[in-house]
Amino acid sequence: MKVSACSYRPILVPCSLKNHDYQIDPYVGCEHSCHYCYVLNQAETDWSEEVLIHKDIAGQLNGELENVSPQTIYLGYYTDPYQPCEAEYRQTRQVLELLLEKCFSVSILTKSDLIVRDMDILREMDHASVSVSVAFNDNRIRQKFEADTIDTEARIRALQKLREAGVQTSALICPVIPYITDVTPFIETLAPYTNTIWIYGLSIEDRSGRNWQNVQGILQTHFPDLKEQIESILFAKEHSYWTELRQQLTELKNDRKSDLRIHL
Ligand code: SF4
Repeated sequence: MKVSACSYRPILVPCSLKNHDYQIDPYVGCEHSCHYCYVLNQAETDWSEEVLIHKDIAGQLNGELENVSPQTIYLGYYTDPYQPCEAEYRQTRQVLELLLEKCFSVSILTKSDLIVRDMDILREMDHASVSVSVAFNDNRIRQKFEADTIDTEARIRALQKLREAGVQTSALICPVIPYITDVTPFIETLAPYTNTIWIYGLSIEDRSGRNWQNVQGILQTHFPDLKEQIESILFAKEHSYWTELRQQLTELKNDRKSDLRIHL
């Protein structure tokens, strides 16, 4: 993997998520190369070959935080902060060290167990929280949709370690791909390690995007019998597949009195 410096750009940027004013993406691009990724459509490099880093992430961020009061910052919107090259380049670790020093906290979303390395910092922060995302019950299928992520089981073990260390956790079942992602078994598996589980369907804006071109190719090659059905569900404004799944999950939520956040 080639890692190069990106052109100068702000590191601390406004965040559109509820409860977060700012986000930080320690990398530009993402080595995980999920074929369905919504950021792919604006990728600056071929992520399977090259990702970009900020020249002096801690120095620049230190300046950008000068007039910002301590608060919780979101990490993981446009990139995975714990993609494989973080083990060597430690961009995320540098950000966390600085944020801790300045009394900030973080909400992190990742698909990687490398986050366990930074539990020492997360435990020191007030209200740090980590969300781990999973989507594929079968790792052979995962490899078709996510070129370079770790096994689902390893992610769940990371969630367990975080929870045991006293870090606030949640999980994402995302993206739910019709007929491919089996949501209910995931809820059973994740429940011991988190109180909150968010569930999101695969979102593809339009057929011209690179993510749809990728997904379409995977479906054509590996799931030819399901391709048309899945495509019609993904591009319908509302579809009975989602209505029924929503209903089933709502019943499960009520029965178990669990904190399922259903966004399907
Ligand atoms: S881990 Fe997230 S940011 Fe990275 S490629 Fe996958 S979906 Fe995109």
